[in-house]
Amino acid sequence: MKRKNFLIALTVCALTLPLAAKRLQVVTTYPYIANLVEHIGGERVKVHALAGGQWDPHTIMAKPSFIAKLRRADLLVINGAQLEIGWLPPLLNQANNPKVNVGSPGMLDLSRFVKLIDVPDSVSRAQGDIHPDGNPHYYLDPYNMLPLAEAIAAKLCALDRQGSGIYRRNLADFNGRLNVKLDEWRERMDPLRGSLVIEYHKNYDYLLRSYGLQLLGTVELLPGIPPTSKHIRDLEGKIAQAKVRLILQDIYNPDEAARHLSAKHGIPMIKLPHDVGAVREAEGIFSLFDEIVRRLRDE
Ligand SMILES: [Zn+2]
Repeated sequence: MKRKNFLIALTVCALTLPLAAKRLQVVTTYPYIANLVEHIGGERVKVHALAGGQWDPHTIMAKPSFIAKLRRADLLVINGAQLEIGWLPPLLNQANNPKVNVGSPGMLDLSRFVKLIDVPDSVSRAQGDIHPDGNPHYYLDPYNMLPLAEAIAAKLCALDRQGSGIYRRNLADFNGRLNVKLDEWRERMDPLRGSLVIEYHKNYDYLLRSYGLQLLGTVELLPGIPPTSKHIRDLEGKIAQAKVRLILQDIYNPDEAARHLSAKHGIPMIKLPHDVGAVREAEGIFSLFDEIVRRLRDE
């Protein structure tokens, strides 16, 4: 009997030791999510982001290496709200990893933890081609980093109970640091409160709302649909009757129309990063928002 118990104990050790030593393999769709997971997971996770930070997040060109990464993943964390709808589902099919399929414990959709804006009342194309569930760019509001970090910590605790003390400690550190930065960013953004802006794509709506800026209109006609000359004329009609402070342009869409409006109407055009890695300065979550605030303030 004793020998049997000893053998069982040996077997349990053989099964658990390599697992304990192995880091949790996490795949994320975008770099900002990878950075959040690194903050919370620390040494216990190995994180790979599929998309590059400089890419248009709506139209990612898949590489064969994406499938290999998804095949090895213990956890997949996505932005959701249909931002990945055009490129991720076929990759998941090909990877055929039951751990990270939709509805599995190893799949985390971060959009479930925030309140989306511009959610259409009915199924229509009124929002354009690429925002059918509402605006998916909620991650460009630093206040949303709190619920996202909490959701990631809860998921890591559930998948790796042995690490839960570390994850909770890392979450507390992250929240503490974020709260200090949120106060700093609010103070620095305060002079822009009430300003009227134009943006190319509705990337920054959540940020504008949090800091009290108003959107006059977008350069593109609808999300994902480039401007027509009639749309630009209509927008110029609105500009003539208002005092627009800034034109916000992302780094991946064509900027000719924004440059034209900027030169003709004397409104500064600001190029803003939309993800970690979009510009050299945005190395992580904190420097991404540092850089957005710095550029908005023209410092
Ligand atoms: Zn979009």
